[in-house]
Amino acid sequence: MTDLQSILTRLSDDMHSDGDWGDVAAYIPELAGVDPAQFGIAAVLADGTTFTAGDTDVPFSAQSITKVFTLAIALGRSGDQLWTRVGREPSGRAFNSIVQLEQEQGRPRNPFINAGAIAVTDEILAGRAPRDTLAEIVQFIRAAADDRDIHINDAVARSEFAHGHRNFALAHFMASCGNLKNTPERTLGTYFHHCAIEMSVLQLARAGLFLVEAAEAPRLISAGRMRRLNALMMTCGHYDGSGDFAYRVGLPAKSGVGGGILAIVPGRASVAVWSPGLNRYGNSLKGTEAMARLAREMDWSVF
Ligand code: GLU
Repeated sequence: MTDLQSILTRLSDDMHSDGDWGDVAAYIPELAGVDPAQFGIAAVLADGTTFTAGDTDVPFSAQSITKVFTLAIALGRSGDQLWTRVGREPSGRAFNSIVQLEQEQGRPRNPFINAGAIAVTDEILAGRAPRDTLAEIVQFIRAAADDRDIHINDAVARSEFAHGHRNFALAHFMASCGNLKNTPERTLGTYFHHCAIEMSVLQLARAGLFLVEAAEAPRLISAGRMRRLNALMMTCGHYDGSGDFAYRVGLPAKSGVGGGILAIVPGRASVAVWSPGLNRYGNSLKGTEAMARLAREMDWSVF
């Protein structure tokens, strides 16, 4: 496996030397100031062996990648009942699109677009205080990563709350259709805070191990649920770029507008990459490129 280390080192060197970094997500003002010229990658094998290259220790905003963890928690709490509120189909639309919500009477297409993730957060929040819900989400991620040093960046959460008009529109529309159990403010306050969880690529790759079927990995969910989460990551994890990511990389994965991507190599490894500049789908530009090259060189595509 020294091969893997040399591939990661070469990828990081290539990414750092190429000029086009893409644009950071500016619609969350607190993220607009992040330097796009950063790249880090970490791969953790099923037995825990770790390989890293580049900017591996910098905490970044996990954003939508946290939706994988909230979905795991929601399915644990509500089981298949959750699917009465959220669908399981790719959206083919932008992460924050509102148009399908109206067409489908307030039931979001899948749990990874914003509307669907807001419904998932609303489901785990029902009947509890936001503080307790957030504590459970952070605790789940810390347990998965086996690392207590994972926190919410309150400034990022507040920045998004102050400017999240689109997400408020989605939540209010769902409320008008009877698909919100809490007030939009309460649900979105919780949603923005879990999106603002920060991790380094190394912490994120470790946290993803619970989705790799491995004897040594922390067993936080059943094998059946693990497969279903992976299926949703493959079909819906990159918004309207999900088909392109499956075509180029061939791995279940989830991206976030902070520039992170978590990809699972079933039975073998968890891989996290981070580069904050985004492509036109809102997914990391260099992160996607690096994942495509890594999957090709390691022959990791599931297809
Ligand atoms: N908090 C972000 C939002 O709701 C998450 C989007 C993403 O990472 O794709 O807009």
